[in-house]
Amino acid sequence: MASTLKVAELFGPTFQGEGPSLGRHATFVRLSGCNLACSWCDTPWTWQWQSYDRAAEQTVMTVEAVLAWARDRADLVVVTGGEPLLQAEPLTELTTKLLATGASVEIETNGTVVPPDALLAGQVTFNVSPKLANAGMPDRRRVRGQALRTLAASGHARFKFVVTGAADLDEIEVLQEEYDLDDVWVMPEATTSGRLLRLLRELADPVVERGWNLAPRLHVLLWEDARAR
Ligand code: SF4
Repeated sequence: MASTLKVAELFGPTFQGEGPSLGRHATFVRLSGCNLACSWCDTPWTWQWQSYDRAAEQTVMTVEAVLAWARDRADLVVVTGGEPLLQAEPLTELTTKLLATGASVEIETNGTVVPPDALLAGQVTFNVSPKLANAGMPDRRRVRGQALRTLAASGHARFKFVVTGAADLDEIEVLQEEYDLDDVWVMPEATTSGRLLRLLRELADPVVERGWNLAPRLHVLLWEDARAR
């Protein structure tokens, strides 16, 4: 039987709006389902079934159908969520086939799920976004040491933290030391360009002092909180 994926939306080409590839021409595969429940989640339609109609928001597609949609659309394919690694097997099949087309592939993950060896061994880049206390969940739920250590040791991961202000930065420092996280990126929690700019200005100096990277959310600057951009 053909393997399938639970898909929330397919969109692009557009730009990668976050992290080290910010501004790259990219297309997006957004998968459905998440194991966390961040208070400020900007994609609740991928998992919050008390507020969103699952039948309307989630489509089951074969890996081949997603591949046919994504291939040749952009040099970079970003698989995001929700939490894509909850669908590890078909995700691995999709990314292996996308890589074979010559595309670059980034998987955005919340860093709580250990990726399968086949994904770790490949050329996929992991954009890992461990959640801080500002996400409103206990740390035992949002910080999973084995997953973070595995991703950090893969050599294919960068770590992107959503912050609500400079007071969050000490928490990142603790996680960086404990789990040996390289390539730290800080990103404001904002769905409006006004808040985004205010937080970027607040964060710039303390992030520089710590030797980390700071990036906006390009899609928010361009389109505010429009969906599928
Ligand atoms: S991990 Fe991502 S998709 Fe899941 S609740 Fe948090 S922000 Fe939303």
